Amino acid sequence: MISEQSAIHSGNLIGGARREAASGRTFESRNPARHGEVVGVFAQSSAADVDAAVAAAQRALGGWRATPWPRRGEIILAAATLMEKRKEDLARLMTREMGKVLTEARGDVQEAIDMGKFIAGEGRRAFGETVPSELRNKWAMTMRQPLGVIGCVTPWNFPIAIPSWKIFPAVMAGNTVVFKPAEDTPLCALRFVEILEEAGLPAGVVNVVFGNEEAGEAVVRHAGTMAIFFTGSADTGRLIAATCGSMLKKVSLELGGKNGIVVMDDADLELAVEGALWGAFGTAGQRCTASSRLIVSRKVLADFTDALVGRTRALRLGDGVDEGVDVGPVINETQLRRIHRYTEIGVEEGARLLAGGTVAQNGELAQGFFYNPTVFGDVTPSMRIAQEEIFGPTTAIIPVDSLDEALAAANSTQFGLSLSIYTNDLRHAFRAIHELEAGIVYVNAPTIGAEIQLPFGGTKNTGNGHREAGGHVLDEFSEWKSIYIDYSGRLQRAQIDTDEQ
Ligand code: NAD
Repeated sequence: MISEQSAIHSGNLIGGARREAASGRTFESRNPARHGEVVGVFAQSSAADVDAAVAAAQRALGGWRATPWPRRGEIILAAATLMEKRKEDLARLMTREMGKVLTEARGDVQEAIDMGKFIAGEGRRAFGETVPSELRNKWAMTMRQPLGVIGCVTPWNFPIAIPSWKIFPAVMAGNTVVFKPAEDTPLCALRFVEILEEAGLPAGVVNVVFGNEEAGEAVVRHAGTMAIFFTGSADTGRLIAATCGSMLKKVSLELGGKNGIVVMDDADLELAVEGALWGAFGTAGQRCTASSRLIVSRKVLADFTDALVGRTRALRLGDGVDEGVDVGPVINETQLRRIHRYTEIGVEEGARLLAGGTVAQNGELAQGFFYNPTVFGDVTPSMRIAQEEIFGPTTAIIPVDSLDEALAAANSTQFGLSLSIYTNDLRHAFRAIHELEAGIVYVNAPTIGAEIQLPFGGTKNTGNGHREAGGHVLDEFSEWKSIYIDYSGRLQRAQIDTDEQ
């Protein structure tokens, strides 16, 4: 295994070539566990670079959409196989660039491998329909068509999995892509797209423009991108939706969450504590599905809280490549400050700080952006720490007296991504399945842990009604075309001519 340790330099990937930004500007990607360490230097793109990328994607579109579906699927399968071979290297570079602990980085890469294998099968299964016509000697059917050039704009928290969720199905359906990865994780994006190239993806089918919101905005606003697939914060999603709305452009938004675990008094408490710990502090809480609220029956509140706080304090912080580390750094200084600001807000609101609540600065931790895993007690559903997405290792315990109160509290935020219940009572479980307002519901598992063969996405302000992954994923990345073939040799008028002749 060769692990990357020196800083790499990369221009954009446009039409199969590496190109510096038109402005000549660059930016650095750094290791959040050791901020002094530069991981890579990348092109800082602007509208001119996006123009070039869209032009390359447009040039590649004709050849790619004409490539048979099974052949497209073979290329994706080859990419997934390459990723499988390089899983360890990819995971290590992800930990170095993004900070998540190595076991989780391996899971991130595995999710992309799963998506590649899953979607590659669509190459021989992208069925259309034959549909009866109301007229004699007339044939009717449907087939899928690509959308054209699409823009993919992604966040840093799943730096390989999330791009794979968009780019694999996009190219499977015959689209070409302009990809703007998050500015905190450009190296992961580069390695992912290089693997696609190595697997045989023709030049120009996936083009990468590195950079910040300036590049992202240019992708969204470009008249040549026919649809935008975005994952990121609700604030950015609103801006993108407004632009796409005014341009009548298709847009799929996967936004924030304020996910909660309900713990009933009949639950297996040890299991619930273990789930809460993993759901709240996995990926240092930087998951859109992180369990940032724990809605706990008052009858088990003391036992649950004691156990959770004890286990939280025992979590080991450190560089995610080191054995035995439970929680890695948060992504950057802005996030670190934002997380701490929410601790101050929680205290100001009258919540009880039970664990953490401080920046971790002991020894080597001072070199990076570490925050001590934080638990608040005595939280009410309307407090800001129970309503707003913190996106860090902070969770809030909300005491409740009944299942009705628990479900109401769980549903009381603007978001609707992932909710869960721990219970051994079938009636509680089924009420929760039906009444929790979220795109994803778990029973006896925390709010994280989605699998790619099920739809992924949320209700309310978590998105705009689209779903990624799952059996219907091609519906997002293709359009239906209806085809009528009249072989009667005469004019037949639908809805007007009867079947009497
Ligand atoms: P972000 O919105 O700040 O940035 C996401 C991407 O959008 C980045 O590539 C960024 O450069 C780009 N961008 C920023 N402003 C833009 C603009 N005006 N126009 C176009 N592009 C722009 O989000 P983030 O901090 O990178 O990611 C964290 C957020 O992502 C959290 O809110 C989290 O819940 C959400 N998220 C959601 C899901 C989901 O599937 N629902 C999954 C992962 C993360």
